[in-house]
Amino acid sequence: MKKVWKVLSSTALAASLFAVPTMGSANQGPSPQQGENLSIEGFINYEELSKKLEQIQKSSQGKVSVETAGYTNQGRGIYKVSVGHGKKVVLIQSEIHGNEKTGTVALLNILQNLGSSNSPETRKILDELTIVVIPMMNVDGSELSRRANEMNWTEVVAKFPQLSNAKPAWNYYSYPGIWNYDTKPGFDVNRDFNPDLNYVPKAEDFPGASNKYGWYVTPEAQTVRDVYKDLKAQFGNVDVFVDLHHQGFPYVEGTDDRVTMSISGKFVTNPNSPGGQKYAAYADNFHYDFSRQLNLAAYNALQAKGNSVFTNISLYDQNIDLPGTALGSFALNGSGTVLFEVSGQTQTFGQKKKGQLVKTVETGLMGIINGVADESVYQLNPKEYENIPLSVRTPGGL
Ligand SMILES: [Zn+2]
Repeated sequence: MKKVWKVLSSTALAASLFAVPTMGSANQGPSPQQGENLSIEGFINYEELSKKLEQIQKSSQGKVSVETAGYTNQGRGIYKVSVGHGKKVVLIQSEIHGNEKTGTVALLNILQNLGSSNSPETRKILDELTIVVIPMMNVDGSELSRRANEMNWTEVVAKFPQLSNAKPAWNYYSYPGIWNYDTKPGFDVNRDFNPDLNYVPKAEDFPGASNKYGWYVTPEAQTVRDVYKDLKAQFGNVDVFVDLHHQGFPYVEGTDDRVTMSISGKFVTNPNSPGGQKYAAYADNFHYDFSRQLNLAAYNALQAKGNSVFTNISLYDQNIDLPGTALGSFALNGSGTVLFEVSGQTQTFGQKKKGQLVKTVETGLMGIINGVADESVYQLNPKEYENIPLSVRTPGGL
């Protein structure tokens, strides 16, 4: 039965990374409060983020530095926060989807801790790693509590006149509904990436598709691309890239347990496997085993918490091919890559389980950070990644 579920899960479970998440679906359960429009107070808005970062920078006495890396389409600064002075680079971003907010809170907790603690563990991390955090990457989407940024196609054409006769990108939302995309259109920024970091938009590449590359037409994706390029120029490689998301409410395969968080190291077809030939140019840079080891480091850190919701971790859909995602493009560029997808969208979850979910993200991230800093991650057997249970839509599914 396992194979069948794998196939089913690839189409049915592709929630946050893959498509606009469906809400209020059939899978009602005791924990998620679907359909209830709970307050999102308790999550951090942009103003609070700015204040908090300033505070963390100040109290860290030079250990944490905050810069503005670029600006959103609506002119808000996108922060780049650095801590540590090691040779290995760990880049982490949150809220590329503006309604997926737990990651930002988890990142602030980690920055606060790394900036203030003098423990041997922290000193080791700061000596070995340069950690770069881009919290609330899609600030405009975050301020609207929605997935996409705020940018219309006319603005894209004004910046790239060569697109005047092109069809709008497939990931451009301009339909009516609760997100007001008809009056405030926007792009799913997490489809705007391209492994060619110097790509210039060409009309013939539009409207594109989910299994094709993005274009860096949004200033938000351009900003992250520029941070990535600068780090690559400075350090030779961005060793680790982690992207923090939210998903629907799957179950852990073979159990009646709701998934607390799904993880993944697979976003494009492996260039060295059948079907991956289209990525042949990137084959030498593709470090799938390292991505699997990083995922295991996160998984093991959560399992170590023992007998709690923190152990309800599953693999995200393993059959996706999304080269326009930040994770897909950066994996093809040589980064070990990790996706976190906590269960529940901000609007349907509110702050009910916020603390638990934030702690889950924090624990997983610290598993990765510690594993790279003390090099234990390189000792993990990548094949064990395949033993992490899959996500399924029904309880007990095998
Ligand atoms: Zn997402």
